[in-house]
Amino acid sequence: MAARPQPSAPKTKSPGSIPNSWDASHGQWGRAWEVDWFSLASVIFLLLFAPFIVYFFIMACDQYGCSLTAPVVDVVTRRTRLADIWARTPSVTAQAAQIYAAWVTFQVVLYMLLPDVCHKFLPGYVGGVQEGAVTPAGIVNKYEINGLQAWLITHLLWFANAHLFSWFSPTIIFDNWIPLLWCANLLGYAVSTFAMVKSYLFPTSAKDCKFTGNFFYNYMMGVEFNPRIGKWFDFKLFFNGRPGIVAWTLINLSFAAKQQQLYGQVTNSMILVNVLQAIYVVDFFWNETWYLKTMDICHDHFGWYLGWGDCVWLPYLYTLQGLYLVYHPVQLSGPHAVGILLLGLLGYYIFRMANHQKDLFRRTDGRCLIWGRKPKVIECTYSSADGQRHHSKLLASGFWGVARHFNYTGDLMGSLAYCLACGGDHLLPYFYIAYMAVLLTHRCLRDEHRCANKYGQDWDRYTAAVPYRLLPGIF
Ligand code: NDP
Repeated sequence: MAARPQPSAPKTKSPGSIPNSWDASHGQWGRAWEVDWFSLASVIFLLLFAPFIVYFFIMACDQYGCSLTAPVVDVVTRRTRLADIWARTPSVTAQAAQIYAAWVTFQVVLYMLLPDVCHKFLPGYVGGVQEGAVTPAGIVNKYEINGLQAWLITHLLWFANAHLFSWFSPTIIFDNWIPLLWCANLLGYAVSTFAMVKSYLFPTSAKDCKFTGNFFYNYMMGVEFNPRIGKWFDFKLFFNGRPGIVAWTLINLSFAAKQQQLYGQVTNSMILVNVLQAIYVVDFFWNETWYLKTMDICHDHFGWYLGWGDCVWLPYLYTLQGLYLVYHPVQLSGPHAVGILLLGLLGYYIFRMANHQKDLFRRTDGRCLIWGRKPKVIECTYSSADGQRHHSKLLASGFWGVARHFNYTGDLMGSLAYCLACGGDHLLPYFYIAYMAVLLTHRCLRDEHRCANKYGQDWDRYTAAVPYRLLPGIF
């Protein structure tokens, strides 16, 4: 899953590209070996501005009641100066640093020291030690899948604290939101920089490293494919899911607690946002094994894009609806709330079923039923960097026959539902659907570029059979 600012699609060859420092024959698919100037400009833009984009949204809520235009108008008309806005921004505090350090340490402990037991009790759930996809160098990594367990323990403790122990206020996250932002940034930059240094000095698998010859691109998109410390601390699996996605539902709960404290009630819009996003988060952990086969884990290298994105971008920008509702408590009419609930559930259903169909199809090697029928199959071949030929199959029926990425379309419907729950007074809560539309459209193009390189003519046969990407008849 995961979530993050996206640089433009890397191209394998283009005029004016920066020369590659390594031989491209190491692999024809996977991340780019060369960087064109547009990709480089996008990378530098994001490295410079993404932290300010996050700051701008959070500051706009803190100082301007979530108006995105008011701070701009204030500065342009010289009613206030940037320095004044900055001076009014809370700085990091010892309390926030302690909370954040305790939080990350706790998640590391849950990740490293508690082997999964959920798969023994929960029918249908696949946890414990699982294998990832074949890397471009032909390696298959093993992972300890225990995210659902970590999420459950964390939330049980949260509710035990709220209802029994009162060790801390449930509004603690909201109350320290900006000081915590600085801590999250510190971790995001530290882990990305460490990953970069590690890739030069002690890479986990040198064969799966990619150096483009450009420092900024390497820093942002990562060099190492699957950096690890020891046998089990896998950077991608840990940072992709914890601390950001486990925190997502806690952050929403803290925002709901703040509404209760400020207004004496939790609005139905806040409940909707909490419930719909919790379904998405639990789904993520329930299917963590499946996520080993998604782009974040099995195609992207680990750099600032994943490291900083998982620590800062995801927890701060994916939770904007809940934050907005603290400042603007919206009570929706019954039909409006039901409409949003249905849109969110329909989006989730499409997202889940499309992903399930592909997973079932791949797991059974096509020996399954899709919508009650034998699946339509496109047989494919591709090579890994060691020169070995592999076989694969593409599904061309079910949701994968409607459009080539209908799972993204379902995701977008769910995202729109969260935004609509916030009413129409401000733009800020709609940032999420705008961002997801750009993210998933770009991701779709990036994925198709990769698949075209990987499968060649076999991919062309698939695009001929299923001509649309996201919306049949439109795109
Ligand atoms: P997909 O799950 O769509 O996986 C794409 C890969 O699936 C391709 O690279 C290819 O891999 C394989 N594939 C493509 N077409 C077919 C087909 N017809 N039949 C069989 N296999 C096919 O993409 P993602 O990994 O990007 O996304 C996974 C989910 O995560 C999505 O539902 C997405 O909406 C969600 N997501 C959410 C984000 C968020 O921030 N909320 C961010 C990103 C994703 P191969 O090389 O194996 O053939």
